[in-house]
Amino acid sequence: MPSYNPQTCNICGSNAWKQVFHFDEFSGRGSTYSKVSVIQCKKCGVRRRMPGITDDYEEEYHQPYSEQGKAIHAHTLRHFADLMKYKFAGFKSGQETFLDVGCSTGRVLELAKTMGFVTTGLDYSKWACDCCTKLGHEVRCGSLEGAWPESGIFDVIHSSHTIEHVPDPVVYISEFRRLLKPDGFLMLAFPNYLSLPRFYWGAKWPIWCLDSHLWQFTLGQIESLLRINGFQIVESKALHGYKIRNPLLRYAFDLSELLRLGDGAQILAKPSE
Ligand SMILES: [Zn+2]
Repeated sequence: MPSYNPQTCNICGSNAWKQVFHFDEFSGRGSTYSKVSVIQCKKCGVRRRMPGITDDYEEEYHQPYSEQGKAIHAHTLRHFADLMKYKFAGFKSGQETFLDVGCSTGRVLELAKTMGFVTTGLDYSKWACDCCTKLGHEVRCGSLEGAWPESGIFDVIHSSHTIEHVPDPVVYISEFRRLLKPDGFLMLAFPNYLSLPRFYWGAKWPIWCLDSHLWQFTLGQIESLLRINGFQIVESKALHGYKIRNPLLRYAFDLSELLRLGDGAQILAKPSE
C-alpha cells in the first residue's frame, strides 16, 4: 500500500491541490495539533489532511468505545436493517460469512453473531484484536491489503468509520470487491464532508477528527469510487445523529437527511454484474 504523502493524492495520483480549511490549533482526544489544514485535490476533488498523521490505534484510541459496552448506534442498526431487506429471504443462519474491517472492540461482530452470521474481524490495533478474540471471534491484525490471499470468501463486508483513516482508501475498496462473493454485500459508513452539520458548525463540527482522519470524503465521491471499482450502489444515505432543541434548526437537520446532506454517510453496495 502506498504510504500517505499529503503532497500527492493517493486517490488519483495528482500533485495539484488547494487549501480549503485551516486550523491554527486543532484539539482532539486530549492532544492539540498546530497548523493543520484540509486540502482538496484539484483533479479528483477529494479532501485530505495536511500534514499527515499516524496513530497506533491501541488501547487509548479504543477506550471511549470500550466504555460504550455493547450499545449499538441507531445508524448502525439502520444500516443492518437495509442489509436484511435484501438478505432476510433465504438467509442461511450459521453459514453466511461476515467480515468487519476496523472491528474495534467487537460490538458489530457481536451483533452480527447474534443475527446468525459467522464472524471475522480485522483491525490495525493489536489491543482491539485481543478484545475481539476474547469475545470468541476469529480476528486478523493489520492492514486489509493481502490479509486474505483467497478471493470471494465473504457474504458481507462491513466497515464503519475506517476508510477515512487508511493511507490508501482505493486499495481497501478493491480488496472489499475481491474478498466479497459475487452476490455479497458491502456496508460502508464514513463521515460526509458535504453536510449541513459541517456547514452549520464550521470549525466546531464534531466530526473533523483531524487527530486521526486523513481523508474527508463526500457521499458522492465514495459512490463514484465504488462504481469505478466494480460495485453497484444498492442503498445510500446521509443521516444526522444530533439532538437539536431549536425546532427550526431540527427541521433543517432532519431535512438535510432527505437531501443526503447529513454527516453520517452509509452505503449498501454489491458487486456489479
Ligand atoms: Zn485526487
